Amino acid sequence: MKVPLLDLKKQYKKIEDEINRAVDEVFQSQRFILGPKVEELEGKIADYCQCNYAVGVSSGTDALLLSLMSAGVGYGDLVITTPYTFFATAGAITRVGAMPIFIDIDEKTYNMNPDELDAAISSMDEERKSKVKAIIPIHLFGQCVRMEPVLAAAEAQGLPVIEDAAQAIGAEYEFSNGKVRRAGSMGHYGCFSFFPSKNLGAFGDGGMVTTNDKDIYECLKVMRVHGAEQKYYHSVIGGNFRLDAIQAAVLTVKFKYLDEWTSKRRENASFYRSLFREKGIEGISLPKDIEKRHIYNQFIIKVRDRRDELKKFLNDSGIGCEVYYPMPLHMQSCFKYLGYTPEDLPVSMDAAKKTLALPIYPELTADQMNYIVDMISNFLKMR
Ligand SMILES: *Cc1c(COP(=O)(O)O)cnc(C)c1O
Repeated sequence: MKVPLLDLKKQYKKIEDEINRAVDEVFQSQRFILGPKVEELEGKIADYCQCNYAVGVSSGTDALLLSLMSAGVGYGDLVITTPYTFFATAGAITRVGAMPIFIDIDEKTYNMNPDELDAAISSMDEERKSKVKAIIPIHLFGQCVRMEPVLAAAEAQGLPVIEDAAQAIGAEYEFSNGKVRRAGSMGHYGCFSFFPSKNLGAFGDGGMVTTNDKDIYECLKVMRVHGAEQKYYHSVIGGNFRLDAIQAAVLTVKFKYLDEWTSKRRENASFYRSLFREKGIEGISLPKDIEKRHIYNQFIIKVRDRRDELKKFLNDSGIGCEVYYPMPLHMQSCFKYLGYTPEDLPVSMDAAKKTLALPIYPELTADQMNYIVDMISNFLKMR
């Protein structure tokens, strides 16, 4: 049996006519840059993410870059984040001239550990503390960071929080007072990606920045078009961070199905759990569904030993699976100058060694999941 890690063709087949009609409208209008299609999508995403405003941008990476620029982060500044993530988070920090401070993750959720955040801040002298200009928590794999303590720490230091919600559209977090908020609505900026493999994926690159602050919104909009409030008059230095109308048209169609797809992903996650339980599989931990609600952009298992052998075995059995991420960012050669050692962030190192993403996309069938868990079970019986 063949089970790809993601099957976008299957998804497209179901909505092909609708998508083609929406894209054709853009072709007929010959309006490709921003415009009504982008605005329509911005309105929908803002509502969905419980935010007052949303600004369509060229990618998730640019959402982060634009947010940092808008927050005024620049040369010599420091930004606190975690190293167990896609490269873009730290890449954006360095591209504005700042330096990332990496802190370790929670071993169950792979997200920023708020205790490590407090420890990092309290270990700094006043001079270093004054250089910290933002915190970027990453809602990895579709589950929110424990935001309450992160927001408290940020507020105590007067720091903006830029949520990297690229993998977490529609993920929810419950505060201790019972209030439930969606990813991207809790900090000052929410950064989303419409890369094709995300839960809401475009037919190319795309992204969005959400905010509840009107001034931030105005700033993002100006910076998205080279800092020109009025065409050809530049009050600040921005960039070309625009979302294409074609991508917005595709996304507006796909958006209608997002909740249905998220439900399917969550159902698939439960089904995996029941299969692993039935087969009494040992040596593998399933993802912890701690914060309400996990949207399962990825279903990540932790393999006690022989992770790479298991990956090869599954690939050879026709099953797509992937390691996200094999090398934490503090160990990347481009960040050697930061001077981290593997021992500095042991939980991130351990995650990089043991995690494996299994297929979780909405169109996955029960037979396919059965096959995957059978193959994992077979592998574990081999020595
Ligand atoms: C995908 C992703 C990004 C970058 O998004 P692009 O649209 O690919 O630029 C940033 N951060 C995280 C955590 C991501 O998963």
